[in-house]
Amino acid sequence: MSIAENLKRVQNQIADAATKAGRTVDDVTLVAVSKTWPVSDIAEAVEAGQLVFGENKVQELLEKVPQMPDALEWHLIGHLQSNKTRKVLPLCGMIHSVDSVKLAQQIDRIAGELDLRPKVLLQVNVANDDAKFGFPVGVVKEEIEGLLDLENLSIEGLMTVPAYQEDPEEVKPFFSRLRELRDELVDVSGFGLPVLSMGMSHDFSVAIEEGATHVRVGSSIFGARNYSA
Ligand SMILES: *Cc1c(COP(=O)(O)O)cnc(C)c1O
Repeated sequence: MSIAENLKRVQNQIADAATKAGRTVDDVTLVAVSKTWPVSDIAEAVEAGQLVFGENKVQELLEKVPQMPDALEWHLIGHLQSNKTRKVLPLCGMIHSVDSVKLAQQIDRIAGELDLRPKVLLQVNVANDDAKFGFPVGVVKEEIEGLLDLENLSIEGLMTVPAYQEDPEEVKPFFSRLRELRDELVDVSGFGLPVLSMGMSHDFSVAIEEGATHVRVGSSIFGARNYSA
Protein backbone atom coordinates (compact mmCIF):
# COMPACT_ATOMS: atom_id res chain seq x y z
CA MET A 1 0.00 0.00 0.00
CA SER A 2 1.27 3.46 -0.86
CA ILE A 3 1.28 6.37 1.58
CA ALA A 4 -1.49 7.98 -0.50
CA GLU A 5 -3.64 4.85 -0.23
CA ASN A 6 -2.97 4.58 3.49
CA LEU A 7 -3.96 8.20 3.99
CA LYS A 8 -7.19 7.66 2.08
CA ARG A 9 -8.03 4.63 4.23
CA VAL A 10 -7.30 6.48 7.47
CA GLN A 11 -9.39 9.45 6.32
CA ASN A 12 -12.29 7.11 5.55
CA GLN A 13 -11.97 5.49 8.97
CA ILE A 14 -11.97 8.93 10.58
CA ALA A 15 -15.11 9.85 8.65
CA ASP A 16 -16.83 6.60 9.68
CA ALA A 17 -15.95 7.06 13.35
CA ALA A 18 -17.11 10.68 13.25
CA THR A 19 -20.42 9.74 11.65
CA LYS A 20 -20.95 6.96 14.16
CA ALA A 21 -20.46 9.51 16.95
CA GLY A 22 -22.84 12.01 15.36
CA ARG A 23 -19.96 14.30 14.46
CA THR A 24 -18.57 15.29 11.08
CA VAL A 25 -15.19 14.65 9.53
CA ASP A 26 -14.43 18.38 9.73
CA ASP A 27 -14.48 18.10 13.54
CA VAL A 28 -11.33 15.96 13.45
CA THR A 29 -7.82 17.04 12.44
CA LEU A 30 -5.51 14.29 11.27
CA VAL A 31 -1.97 14.88 12.50
CA ALA A 32 0.25 12.62 10.38
CA VAL A 33 3.05 11.46 12.67
CA SER A 34 6.15 11.37 10.48
CA LYS A 35 8.75 10.60 13.17
CA THR A 36 11.58 8.37 11.95
CA TRP A 37 10.42 8.74 8.31
CA PRO A 38 12.44 10.69 5.75
CA VAL A 39 11.27 13.90 4.12
CA SER A 40 10.69 11.99 0.87
CA ASP A 41 7.85 10.10 2.62
CA ILE A 42 6.46 13.33 4.02
CA ALA A 43 6.54 14.77 0.50
CA GLU A 44 4.46 11.82 -0.68
CA ALA A 45 1.86 12.54 1.98
CA VAL A 46 1.87 16.24 1.04
CA GLU A 47 1.32 15.24 -2.57
CA ALA A 48 -1.76 13.33 -1.38
CA GLY A 49 -3.08 16.45 0.33
CA GLN A 50 -1.88 16.05 3.94
CA LEU A 51 -0.65 19.34 5.46
CA VAL A 52 -0.43 18.73 9.22
CA PHE A 53 2.47 16.66 10.56
CA GLY A 54 3.58 15.62 14.02
CA GLU A 55 7.08 14.94 15.29
CA ASN A 56 8.00 13.75 18.76
CA LYS A 57 11.67 14.78 18.80
CA VAL A 58 12.79 18.37 18.59
CA GLN A 59 16.00 17.52 16.73
CA GLU A 60 14.10 15.73 14.00
CA LEU A 61 11.62 18.59 13.71
CA LEU A 62 14.45 21.11 13.35
CA GLU A 63 16.01 19.06 10.57
CA LYS A 64 12.84 18.40 8.60
CA VAL A 65 10.96 21.69 8.70
CA PRO A 66 13.45 23.74 6.63
CA GLN A 67 13.43 21.03 3.93
CA MET A 68 9.66 21.15 3.42
CA PRO A 69 7.19 23.71 2.00
CA ASP A 70 6.19 26.60 4.25
CA ALA A 71 2.50 25.71 3.86
CA LEU A 72 2.85 22.72 6.19
CA GLU A 73 1.87 22.84 9.83
CA TRP A 74 4.13 21.07 12.32
CA HIS A 75 2.99 19.85 15.71
CA LEU A 76 5.36 18.81 18.47
CA ILE A 77 3.81 15.76 20.14
CA GLY A 78 6.72 14.60 22.32
CA HIS A 79 8.40 15.86 25.46
CA LEU A 80 9.99 19.30 25.14
CA GLN A 81 13.22 19.89 27.02
CA SER A 82 13.29 23.47 28.16
CA ASN A 83 16.65 24.25 26.52
CA LYS A 84 15.05 23.59 23.11
CA THR A 85 12.06 25.91 23.53
CA ARG A 86 13.58 28.91 21.78
CA LYS A 87 14.32 26.94 18.61
CA VAL A 88 11.01 25.12 18.51
CA LEU A 89 8.53 27.94 19.05
CA PRO A 90 8.95 29.68 15.68
CA LEU A 91 8.47 26.37 13.81
CA CYS A 92 5.50 24.84 15.59
CA GLY A 93 1.80 25.31 14.86
CA MET A 94 0.96 23.52 18.10
CA ILE A 95 2.77 21.93 21.03
CA HIS A 96 0.72 18.97 22.33
CA SER A 97 3.07 18.09 25.14
CA VAL A 98 3.18 20.81 27.81
CA ASP A 99 3.52 18.59 30.84
CA SER A 100 4.49 20.80 33.77
CA VAL A 101 3.83 24.27 35.19
CA LYS A 102 7.52 25.01 34.95
CA LEU A 103 7.62 24.24 31.23
CA ALA A 104 4.46 26.28 30.62
CA GLN A 105 6.01 29.26 32.40
CA GLN A 106 9.22 28.90 30.45
CA ILE A 107 7.41 28.70 27.08
CA ASP A 108 5.36 31.75 28.11
CA ARG A 109 8.48 33.76 28.92
CA ILE A 110 10.32 32.86 25.71
CA ALA A 111 7.17 33.35 23.58
CA GLY A 112 6.96 36.84 25.07
CA GLU A 113 10.56 37.55 24.10
CA LEU A 114 9.97 36.28 20.56
CA ASP A 115 6.63 38.07 20.26
CA LEU A 116 4.79 34.79 19.63
CA ARG A 117 1.65 33.30 21.13
CA PRO A 118 2.00 29.55 20.60
CA LYS A 119 -0.99 27.21 20.65
CA VAL A 120 -0.38 24.55 23.27
CA LEU A 121 -2.13 21.59 24.86
CA LEU A 122 -1.69 20.35 28.40
CA GLN A 123 -0.62 16.73 28.36
CA VAL A 124 -2.45 14.83 31.08
CA ASN A 125 -1.49 11.46 32.46
CA VAL A 126 -5.09 10.31 32.92
CA ALA A 127 -4.04 6.74 33.64
CA ASN A 128 -1.52 7.81 36.32
CA ASP A 129 1.02 5.74 34.45
CA ASP A 130 4.52 6.16 35.91
CA ALA A 131 6.10 5.52 32.52
CA LYS A 132 4.32 8.44 30.84
CA PHE A 133 4.84 12.18 30.84
CA GLY A 134 1.99 14.50 31.71
CA PHE A 135 0.25 16.38 34.49
CA PRO A 136 -1.42 14.20 37.08
CA VAL A 137 -5.16 14.94 36.96
CA GLY A 138 -5.16 16.55 40.41
CA VAL A 139 -2.32 18.90 39.51
CA VAL A 140 -3.91 20.15 36.32
CA LYS A 141 -7.11 20.92 38.26
CA GLU A 142 -5.15 22.84 40.90
CA GLU A 143 -3.02 24.77 38.43
CA ILE A 144 -5.45 25.49 35.60
CA GLU A 145 -6.29 29.07 36.59
CA GLY A 146 -2.62 30.04 36.84
CA LEU A 147 -1.81 28.34 33.54
CA LEU A 148 -4.64 30.13 31.76
CA ASP A 149 -3.29 33.42 33.13
CA LEU A 150 -0.02 33.00 31.20
CA GLU A 151 -0.42 35.76 28.63
CA ASN A 152 1.76 34.45 25.83
CA LEU A 153 0.31 30.95 25.76
CA SER A 154 -2.84 30.06 23.90
CA ILE A 155 -3.97 26.96 25.80
CA GLU A 156 -6.30 25.20 23.38
CA GLY A 157 -7.09 22.00 25.25
CA LEU A 158 -5.76 18.68 26.50
CA MET A 159 -3.76 15.75 25.17
CA THR A 160 -3.16 12.24 26.46
CA VAL A 161 -1.13 9.15 25.52
CA PRO A 162 -2.51 6.08 27.30
CA ALA A 163 -0.40 2.93 27.45
CA TYR A 164 -0.88 0.56 24.53
CA GLN A 165 -3.71 -1.92 24.90
CA GLU A 166 -4.32 -4.72 22.44
CA ASP A 167 -8.04 -4.03 22.62
CA PRO A 168 -8.82 -0.34 21.93
CA GLU A 169 -12.01 -0.66 23.99
CA GLU A 170 -9.74 -0.87 27.04
CA VAL A 171 -8.33 2.62 26.50
CA LYS A 172 -11.77 4.09 25.95
CA PRO A 173 -12.21 5.01 29.64
CA PHE A 174 -9.01 7.08 29.50
CA PHE A 175 -10.28 8.99 26.49
CA SER A 176 -13.63 9.66 28.13
CA ARG A 177 -11.85 10.71 31.32
CA LEU A 178 -9.83 13.29 29.37
CA ARG A 179 -13.05 14.66 27.87
CA GLU A 180 -14.72 14.83 31.27
CA LEU A 181 -11.67 16.56 32.76
CA ARG A 182 -11.78 19.10 29.92
CA ASP A 183 -15.47 19.75 30.60
CA GLU A 184 -14.72 20.23 34.28
CA LEU A 185 -11.85 22.66 33.56
CA VAL A 186 -14.10 24.63 31.22
CA ASP A 187 -16.72 24.86 33.99
CA VAL A 188 -14.29 26.16 36.61
CA SER A 189 -12.28 28.48 34.36
CA GLY A 190 -14.82 29.78 31.86
CA PHE A 191 -12.28 29.19 29.09
CA GLY A 192 -13.08 27.21 25.91
CA LEU A 193 -10.43 24.45 25.68
CA PRO A 194 -11.89 23.04 22.43
CA VAL A 195 -9.05 20.67 21.53
CA LEU A 196 -8.78 17.03 22.64
CA SER A 197 -5.69 15.36 21.16
CA MET A 198 -6.10 11.62 21.68
CA GLY A 199 -5.95 8.47 19.61
CA MET A 200 -3.13 6.84 17.61
CA SER A 201 -3.03 4.30 14.77
CA HIS A 202 -4.77 1.47 16.48
CA ASP A 203 -7.24 3.36 18.66
CA PHE A 204 -8.16 6.61 16.87
CA SER A 205 -11.67 5.42 15.97
CA VAL A 206 -12.48 4.87 19.62
CA ALA A 207 -10.91 8.23 20.50
CA ILE A 208 -13.11 10.00 17.94
CA GLU A 209 -16.19 8.35 19.43
CA GLU A 210 -15.07 9.83 22.76
CA GLY A 211 -14.63 13.33 21.36
CA ALA A 212 -11.09 13.58 19.93
CA THR A 213 -10.59 16.67 17.77
CA HIS A 214 -6.99 15.76 16.88
CA VAL A 215 -5.79 12.23 16.21
CA ARG A 216 -2.05 11.51 15.93
CA VAL A 217 -1.58 8.74 13.40
CA GLY A 218 1.83 7.45 12.31
CA SER A 219 2.28 3.79 11.41
CA SER A 220 -1.12 3.40 9.71
CA ILE A 221 0.03 6.04 7.22
CA PHE A 222 3.78 5.58 6.89
CA GLY A 223 4.22 1.94 7.91
CA ALA A 224 5.79 0.23 10.92
CA ARG A 225 8.73 2.16 12.35
CA ASN A 226 12.14 0.56 12.65
CA TYR A 227 13.95 2.15 15.59
CA SER A 228 17.08 0.05 15.17
CA ALA A 229 17.78 1.30 11.65
C1 LIG B 1 4.50 7.98 17.70
C2 LIG B 1 3.40 8.72 18.33
C3 LIG B 1 2.10 8.66 17.80
C4 LIG B 1 1.72 7.84 16.59
O1 LIG B 1 1.78 6.48 16.88
P1 LIG B 1 1.27 5.36 15.82
O2 LIG B 1 0.93 4.22 16.67
O3 LIG B 1 2.39 5.12 14.90
O4 LIG B 1 0.09 5.94 15.12
C5 LIG B 1 1.11 9.40 18.43
N1 LIG B 1 1.37 10.17 19.52
C6 LIG B 1 2.61 10.25 20.05
C7 LIG B 1 2.81 11.11 21.24
C8 LIG B 1 3.66 9.54 19.48
O5 LIG B 1 4.87 9.63 20.02
